[in-house]
Formats: sequence, structure tokens, C-alpha cells
Amino acid sequence: MHAITRSGWIEVISGSMFSGKTEELLRRLRRAEIAGRSVGVFTPAVDDRYGETTIGSHAGRQWEATVVDNEGEGPRDILDDRPIAEVIAIDEANFFSNALVDVCETLADGGSRVIVSGTDQTFRGEPFEPLPQLMATAEYVDKLQAVCSECGEPASRNQRLIDGAPAHADDPTILVGAAESYEARCRDCHVLVTGRSDD
Ligand code: ADP
Ligand code: MG
Ligand code: ZN
Repeated sequence: MHAITRSGWIEVISGSMFSGKTEELLRRLRRAEIAGRSVGVFTPAVDDRYGETTIGSHAGRQWEATVVDNEGEGPRDILDDRPIAEVIAIDEANFFSNALVDVCETLADGGSRVIVSGTDQTFRGEPFEPLPQLMATAEYVDKLQAVCSECGEPASRNQRLIDGAPAHADDPTILVGAAESYEARCRDCHVLVTGRSDD
């Protein structure tokens, strides 16, 4: 992938959790480094699953990253990280506010190759901002699939489990620190509890 040579551009890597987004991001970073490009790697402050200052894949690989405040105008701090790298990677983009869209546009306009990775659906199966906007404005989009944990078919959805049971549709979209877990599931196996929870 590299048809554009005279300007920057945006690449989005999306799909469900466990679909290999971070692995693919790290693969592209390794290749950029081999090619002698300067790289800048950013991760949201909310995501401390693999330690505070790295991005990490479920398969165990990691890369040093600068932690950025993901809320409000926080993503604009990425623009203040000088010198601006030739290749800029942003993982877990779904945790960032919509200010990230403008940040990516500014970086690409300025000549950087911007690689953004994040899940495109909430646990309800709805579009998860800012990924939909990023996917629309990007030059390149790859949507990856995981393996459905129930039936083994390609999975594109995030199944949230609270104490092992499917989550309720009314639960908040971002629920950090709760006794929750996630599985990758296909459309058929994805379960969302609706209706009043005290029925
Ligand atoms: P993402 O960033 O999309 O959440 P990662 O790149 O961190 O994904 O991890 C992908 C890796 O997760 C796979 O290579 C595999 O080793 C592991 N994995 C665990 N569960 C699954 C699953 N249900 N489907 C696919 N890969 C899985
Ligand atoms: Mg990831
Ligand atoms: Zn399934």
C-alpha cells in the first residue's frame, strides 16, 4: 500500500476487539522504522490495560507510546508533540473524543502518514465515534474480523459480558473498571439484553 507520495494521508484499521488491529498497526510501524521513517505513537489515557506508556496487542507485542488525554480537546496535544513524525500511529481511537478527527486531518494535511486503529462498533453494534468519521475521511480503510467465540465464524461485533452474562443495552458505552469482559462475536451470536432490567 503506497500510491500517494506527494502528501500525507490517513489509514484506518478497524473491526471488532481481537480482530488484530493493534498487531496490524505494529506491523506497519515496524516496516516504517525499517524504512528509516520517524514515528510517533499515541495511546489514550483511559487505556491502561497493557501498562501506561505502551500500545499492546492481545498476542503480547508492544510499542512505546505517548499517553494523551482522550477527552474534550485533549487529542490536540498530539499536534504539540514536536518534531511532528513522518508516520503517526494512534491506537484505541474509539476512546478519543471527536476532536481526534480534526487532529488526523491536520496531521495528514501537514504531510504525515497517519495510521489510526480502533473498534468501529459499540457493544450494542452501533457506530462508535470517532471511527465512522475517520473511516469516511481516510484514504485507506481496512476492516478486520476476529473469530466468533461462539461459532467460529468471522466476527465483527463486540460482546460485552457483565459477570459472564450479556450486557444490557442501557449500560454506558465506556465502562472502565467494572467487572466486565469482552468477546468477539458474529452477528448471529451477538446478544444484547433489552427491556427493563427489573422484569
Ligand atoms: P485488537 O487490537 O483488534 O483488539 P490484537 O491485535 O490486540 O487485536 O490481538 C489479536 C490477537 O488476539 C490474535 O492474533 C489472537 O492471537 C488473539 N485472539 C484472542 N481471541 C481471539 C478471537 N476471538 N479471534 C481472533 N483472535 C483472537
Ligand atoms: Mg488493540
Ligand atoms: Zn457466531
